[in-house]
Amino acid sequence: MHQRSRSARRIAIIPGDGIGKEVIPEAIKVLKAAATAGGREIALTEFDWGADRYLRDGTALPPDAPEMFRRDFDAILLGALGDPRVPGNQHGADILLGLRFQLDLYVNERPCVLFEQNLTPLKGRSEKDIHFHVIRENTEGLYAGMGGFFKKGTADEIATQEDINTRKGVERILRYAFEFARRRGYRRVCMSDKSNALAYGHNLWTRVFAEVRGDYPEIEASHMYIDNLLLQMVRDPAQFQVIVTCNLFGDIAGDLGAALIGGLGIAPSGNIHPGRVSLFEPVHGSAPDIAGENIANPMGAALAAGMMCTYLGWTAEGQAIEDAVRAAIREGKTTSDVGGSLTTRQVGDWLAGKLASA
Ligand code: ATP
Repeated sequence: MHQRSRSARRIAIIPGDGIGKEVIPEAIKVLKAAATAGGREIALTEFDWGADRYLRDGTALPPDAPEMFRRDFDAILLGALGDPRVPGNQHGADILLGLRFQLDLYVNERPCVLFEQNLTPLKGRSEKDIHFHVIRENTEGLYAGMGGFFKKGTADEIATQEDINTRKGVERILRYAFEFARRRGYRRVCMSDKSNALAYGHNLWTRVFAEVRGDYPEIEASHMYIDNLLLQMVRDPAQFQVIVTCNLFGDIAGDLGAALIGGLGIAPSGNIHPGRVSLFEPVHGSAPDIAGENIANPMGAALAAGMMCTYLGWTAEGQAIEDAVRAAIREGKTTSDVGGSLTTRQVGDWLAGKLASA
């Protein structure tokens, strides 16, 4: 992990597209306020990658970018990528998937923590019932990009998409989940797959899980098929503390988790390779339908900045950001997606003010 003795943390900022350009300036305000309050130093460098740049000069992810991030930065804070002017959002895939794969960010961490009872659509559930983390494998599975077309565009077309599961990839994400639980003082890890139907790839998950769990005897390890997991997340979310699963299932379970805590506007995520430069972002996309209106919720981005602080070893600052968001929600200082009437900038200002006065 990063050493506390090194002074300034070097952070790359990629606002990206749409509401990414609105929520990231607020997350920066919040980050700066938390850093100042904690006597910490940050050095920010902004990159203008996104649809405008791509349409202007064809730049998506410059070829030397991964090496530069590894060499010159401790973390990356990203807004969102996606723009209706770019067919298929090719630039977004190039940048985000490029960084995920080339920086080998094999963990996708999605906290699903309910801050206020009113925000969950689940009847009768409160803060104590919804507090878990989805740990998603982030570099393999069906998202590895292996497959192809045969007789494309004809009536006989065949499309294949291969599900890649490596021994190394499965083991490292399972170990991360157990280490995460141990570090945070959680007692339960649930691994989810579909090994009853996916007889090879997910059989590997089952076997490696049986091995790895033995190294963490103090943690209760359980297993659920993905269909049952999703049902249980809605029926009784309190049973979960750490959920670990493959790329596709983690994508889906993470979004369901976001729905349980109040929606996309307040959900953060981390794309992590422990000990190396890692990337933090709100879960939401560029939301072109509300871009430019100063109504996007900046809390997901602010919480992503908080996760980044925690990752960089600034746990007090990470906690302070989370506490400020919790306070804002309790006091109704929010955007309309979570029931308030403030603008994006007003929420950012409120959070920064709260951190400055804490
Ligand atoms: P992309 O293609 O970049 O993923 P998208 O519009 O398909 O963008 P999201 O941006 O993830 O998908 O969001 C879906 C909808 O949720 C948006 O259209 C918007 O109405 C709402 N939404 C997402 N993020 C926020 C936010 N931060 N604040 C308020 N509403 C949001």
